[in-house]
Amino acid sequence: MAIQGDFQAHSQALARLDVPFRFVKKASELSGLAGLILPGGESTTCLKFLVEEELFEPIREFAAGHPVFGTCAGAILMADKVENPSQASLGLVRMTLRRNAYGRQLASSIRILDPEPELDLGPEAGRALEAVLIRAPVILEVGPQVRVLARTDGRPVLVREGLRLAGTFHPELTSDTRVHRYFCNMALDSSAE
Ligand code: GLN
Repeated sequence: MAIQGDFQAHSQALARLDVPFRFVKKASELSGLAGLILPGGESTTCLKFLVEEELFEPIREFAAGHPVFGTCAGAILMADKVENPSQASLGLVRMTLRRNAYGRQLASSIRILDPEPELDLGPEAGRALEAVLIRAPVILEVGPQVRVLARTDGRPVLVREGLRLAGTFHPELTSDTRVHRYFCNMALDSSAE
């Protein structure tokens, strides 16, 4: 989704994996895609554009049958409940997020993730995975169907519900492509079904 935020960085991560991509600015461009990434940025601004460009419902429809991955602001858009302040969202993952919820000192930081065994990071699974947090939200609560795939300081930062993947950090801002590869494998699996 290329209407706001760091979509260029995501495209570079996909390019490093040799995964073809397209920048989506309008609903018709969703057609034929195997998956969709909602980048980090500013969720309030992004939400405004999604409504103005009439993308809100088309994304929800796309998400009914295809994988969607949201990072930071993208994860906020995917939540079904947003606090601080409360705002509309796509309701793709049953979780409650609180925006800008790390204290001032932690507002932007790099932390090491604790992945769950279920998060298949491929052959380099043993290598530490860094989480770049930039004015990140905190995941306060997740629904019963939501699996936590990684945490920092005991808090969930990467979660999955079916074909929806949401992270409060920015894997696109490191050279490590393992989280993108995980998502691309979700897209491959789902298009093979
Ligand atoms: N603070 C932003 C928001 O609330 C998210 C920041 C980000 O995407 N890095 O929308």
